[in-house]
Amino acid sequence: MVQFFGTEDMARLLREMSVGVFSRQLCDYIREDFRRWPLFEKSARLASHSQQGVIELMPTSDGTFYAFKYVNGHPVNTASGLLTVTGMGVFADVATGYPLLVSEMTILTALRTAATSAVAARALARPMARRMALIGAGAQAEFQALAFEAELGITHIDLYDPDRSAAEKARANLVAISPLRVEIAESVGAACANADIVTIATAVKGRQAVLKPEHIRPGTHINAIGGDCPGKTELAAELLRRGRVFVEFTPQTRIEGDIQQMEPEFPVTELWQVLTQRAAGRERAEDITIFDSVGFAIEDFSALRLLKDIATTGRAGRGLDLIPAPSNPKDLFGTLGLKRMVAAA
Ligand code: NAD
Repeated sequence: MVQFFGTEDMARLLREMSVGVFSRQLCDYIREDFRRWPLFEKSARLASHSQQGVIELMPTSDGTFYAFKYVNGHPVNTASGLLTVTGMGVFADVATGYPLLVSEMTILTALRTAATSAVAARALARPMARRMALIGAGAQAEFQALAFEAELGITHIDLYDPDRSAAEKARANLVAISPLRVEIAESVGAACANADIVTIATAVKGRQAVLKPEHIRPGTHINAIGGDCPGKTELAAELLRRGRVFVEFTPQTRIEGDIQQMEPEFPVTELWQVLTQRAAGRERAEDITIFDSVGFAIEDFSALRLLKDIATTGRAGRGLDLIPAPSNPKDLFGTLGLKRMVAAA
């Protein structure tokens, strides 16, 4: 049977394991796969744009397994009570082409985005970083805070969101389950004033410059996840020039990331190169490092690979009746169990 993780399966798994423990394991899987980077098939994701948002397909393979995710990004959705980002994914066996696992990927995307951010920050931020500003307190916010707590030992979060109720929601969720000290700031500048790391996760379909050079202290690491689509940015161009920029897969980030604002030859370093010591990360304590994250298929592959390994132990997930299993593989028709229809008298 194909393994299946629905949203309730995922919630149960996280209640059992805790978000912190799951995030740390996912960081290890992501690091492992980023260190195998040249092995993977890589392409910029296939995007279908509309006035309201984008729907994307994100495939990759390491030659043994194949994975893809369907994901959307619709910043207008929250106004009508819907999530900005939803997703679902498949993990398959390359040798047979059979799907092994089908999963919800709305929660898993938040977890993998936060884990990738934490992997990047662990490689690029100053080791003593303990205080993080979190700009944008929507669906991704708590996952980011908890992954940074688990992977880097962050102890303080300064939250800013123009929607005060979103900031209050995030604070209440975080203090209920973690020892994090969480304060709500009145502006971007106030949130960043004492930050070692700034995570920015806003969702506005438009060219925004929410984070500007005057907000950032020397030595800060910036984790920018909301500029992830053509025509959708959140960092000022002068800030990008002020720092050293690290990306996932350059051809995709040049189209979708905050660096879409820059000239095509604007220098960037791919994170996998830092993780494999092929390129330098932070060079001086006062450097500003910027992770211009858009989300790449290998991160989804890592997340699905972890779920597959968890499902194999039998500890979570359930079977999904998705692929027929005829005793004679040429007799697919026989699996239907059809009987001759007798015409009604
Ligand atoms: P969301 O709509 O739930 O939350 C976004 C929040 O940003 C809202 O609370 C909104 O009030 C706030 N915001 C808007 N303008 C702001 C501003 N100027 N200053 C501070 N806050 C502001 O969205 P989400 O699901 O949390 O996603 C956040 C962003 O992350 C989206 O842009 C999404 O596309 C992106 N994202 C990126 C990745 C990745 O891999 N890089 C993965 C998932 C989501």
